Amino acid sequence: MAIRFTTLSENTANYGFLAEWGLSILIEVDGRRILMDTGMSFSAAHNAQLLGIDLSTIDTIVLSHGHRDHTGGLGDILGKKQSEVRVIAHPDIWTDKYTHRESGDQYIGLPFSRPSLEGMGARFELSGEPVRITDHVMTSGEIPMSSGYETIDDNLLVRQETQLIPDPLSDDMAMIIRTDFGLVVVLGCAHHGLINTLRHARKITGQELIYAVIGGTHLYPASPERVALTIAELRDMGLQKIGVSHCTGFYASSRLAEEFPEGFFLNNAGSQFTLP
Ligand SMILES: [Zn+2]
Ligand SMILES: [Zn+2]
Repeated sequence: MAIRFTTLSENTANYGFLAEWGLSILIEVDGRRILMDTGMSFSAAHNAQLLGIDLSTIDTIVLSHGHRDHTGGLGDILGKKQSEVRVIAHPDIWTDKYTHRESGDQYIGLPFSRPSLEGMGARFELSGEPVRITDHVMTSGEIPMSSGYETIDDNLLVRQETQLIPDPLSDDMAMIIRTDFGLVVVLGCAHHGLINTLRHARKITGQELIYAVIGGTHLYPASPERVALTIAELRDMGLQKIGVSHCTGFYASSRLAEEFPEGFFLNNAGSQFTLP
């Protein structure tokens, strides 16, 4: 069983591609084409065209959460489709999301209304539970905060009536691929924590070995202590490959590169690789 990854949008880009703050990864597995997230705006559609990837052949889109840097490209991607497409996400992607800034809180939620996306062919399947995509692929559903040392970024807010309160980001989820060589977990931003996500993936699949982690780890605000605990637990889980993107940050990336010299790589826009 081979899984082919193509990163269509990311904060940094390989030669000739467009970079944009956000993430979008195409996963080809079990004869299917599944898109995890869509980037912030037009970069995913643009880079797909450069790679000769026909976006009209995508059969499922998974939205890891509602933030605009993962959902803003939906308009351009749905524009390439002639038929309806299944879009799997959590119901809370539609909550009113903000980020705290010194200069004033900024709206960072989904930039399209549900009816406008449905008008472009999106067929939403909203669930807090894991959703099966193929025999080997599923979404995580809601991720419990189990590790004790991972916290949700408190600069991320949600509007409740007239107030902005810390966003519980219940919509945060990952994609899990079960293989003979272990689990492959694809992350959007891992707002509920990388280790919490992996523990949950083990629990719901009953498979212990984590072979690979691909995507955004949200380790950029993490303390050196949290990064050290994360690395120790990744080792215990048997991690072989880690292709980091988006919100990992320089410190965590350099530590992971040191600790996993064989398996570490930067997963940028234009990156294509196959696992195992
Ligand atoms: Zn986010
Ligand atoms: Zn993000």
